[in-house]
Amino acid sequence: MSPPETLPTIEPGWVWLVGAGPGDPGLLTLHGLNALRSADVVVYDALVDRRVLDLAGPEAERIFAGKRGGKPSPKQHDISQRLIALARDGRRVLRLKGGDPFVFGRGGEEALALVEAGIPFRVVPGVTSGIGGLAYAGIPATHRDVNAAVTFITGHSLTGAVPDGLDWPALARGAPVLVFYMAIKHLGEIVSKLTGAGRPPDDAVALISNATTEKQQVVVTRLDRAVEASRTVEPPALVVVGDVVRLRPALDWLGAMSGRTLEADPLGMRNQDEAV
Ligand code: SAH
Repeated sequence: MSPPETLPTIEPGWVWLVGAGPGDPGLLTLHGLNALRSADVVVYDALVDRRVLDLAGPEAERIFAGKRGGKPSPKQHDISQRLIALARDGRRVLRLKGGDPFVFGRGGEEALALVEAGIPFRVVPGVTSGIGGLAYAGIPATHRDVNAAVTFITGHSLTGAVPDGLDWPALARGAPVLVFYMAIKHLGEIVSKLTGAGRPPDDAVALISNATTEKQQVVVTRLDRAVEASRTVEPPALVVVGDVVRLRPALDWLGAMSGRTLEADPLGMRNQDEAV
């Protein structure tokens, strides 16, 4: 398949910040595919799926910019400087990130460094794991009559701790569906903050790991059992809290492909719908 020729490709001296999506290469955008085809250097993170990276041209130089083997990741400043230096060399630079570059991906910081250096750039959104991963788990991010809002939260601030700038009581009481990124390590603290502020301990929770890949694993549990359940879950993983999780027995289309029988009407809403 070749992307439409009317779509842009990377020009020399430009940097494209591209979202690779959560894993399944079919979730890459056409702009993303064009970027991979036209880049002469790809700077990629640990979360980028190997199959997406393999779509880059054989000549493209590949530079890994993530954590490996427990070693600390390269400093954000160094990555930005590298992008700037490559662009100044007249290369066609693709900065490839897992999911969406502007969702907990530090894409904004890299873009700001490019602006400061006067480097032209484009941002190509990707399917964020907090949307695409849920869809592959058969969990809609929003569902009529269940939630009129969805909240994306990081479980991990710059210092590595649970973010304390958040109004946890407000989230516990006012946010019907919470989708946590990077939350497994501090799940105990997160659960206590939520239940301590009034979130019901039996609220539905899904732990989704390696979403959209062959290693995808989904564990459905309740808030007060989530920490224990998380011990069997491999990173990267998302934590979803709220009633949309209860739709999975009906909407696990991926499971249905390997024989799961889907339950119609898991929320017992059919009659209500008919009344509308
Ligand atoms: N920019 C990325 C998020 C980067 S933060 C995005 O938009 O998806 C890293 C966190 O993303 C991980 O700790 C995990 O919580 C989540 N994540 C990314 N890819 C994932 C996947 N395939 N399955 C489950 N969680 C994933």
